[in-house]
Amino acid sequence: MHPRCRSTTIEALSPELMKKLERRARDPETGELRTVPADMTYREWYGKYVGGGELTGGGESGIIKPITIEAINECASDEVLSKECKTTIYETLKSQGTLRDYDEVKIVRIPPDKDGRIEVLRTNAESSPGYPKVTLEINEAALGGMSKEIVDEMFRLDNYTAAMSLEEAIIHECGHAKVLRGKTYAQYEAEDEILKGDAFTNPIKGREDKKSLKDLAGKVSEYAQKDGMECIAECHVIISRGGSIPSDLKALYDKYIS
Ligand SMILES: [Zn+2]
Repeated sequence: MHPRCRSTTIEALSPELMKKLERRARDPETGELRTVPADMTYREWYGKYVGGGELTGGGESGIIKPITIEAINECASDEVLSKECKTTIYETLKSQGTLRDYDEVKIVRIPPDKDGRIEVLRTNAESSPGYPKVTLEINEAALGGMSKEIVDEMFRLDNYTAAMSLEEAIIHECGHAKVLRGKTYAQYEAEDEILKGDAFTNPIKGREDKKSLKDLAGKVSEYAQKDGMECIAECHVIISRGGSIPSDLKALYDKYIS
């Protein structure tokens, strides 16, 4: 479905150039306009000017906005991405509380990988000296022109992932977005490295049966066994559906998503 969920893209503008540019932002307390560095992301701005409280006030108070239904409607024509799929994407991001975790939703075209598997959705965290720009990418090659009914059927028939519908495939992506929340790109990369390695494949300390997190992930889905980050996103699907997962996986999940 999305074997390279967290792959990165090349920035068109160099970080050196971005540092020299400034853009306008509104101070959340005084309402005054001020300039911020152009390479400052929403999360950096939030951390600096708003602090650790609840995310309130809405996008209308500044340049940085949560994902809107209009933005999703505009990312592709209804022929390319059906109206119902667009609405489902928006409503699921909303119900997951992740409209602000994404900086952008966009249509991309990703061909099938060497195993013939096609990614439907992808949460792309762009490499950055600070906080990453997080984009929800929708693969036109997978969803282009399809009704939601067909898309749901596709997920129902595919047993590789835990997702049984478009909603749940988006919930998987929201799992990634929630892990990314509040982390700099460097912090996220460091966690990702750990979860790709021994921490995932070595036997869990204290377990009589010497099982690893990867072994336990097999109870969630085949895809959950790929690496720790995918396991967490797959667990997020099961938990959001009200299902249960092995306690060692729940501990991993709770460490990254709360
Ligand atoms: Zn994923």
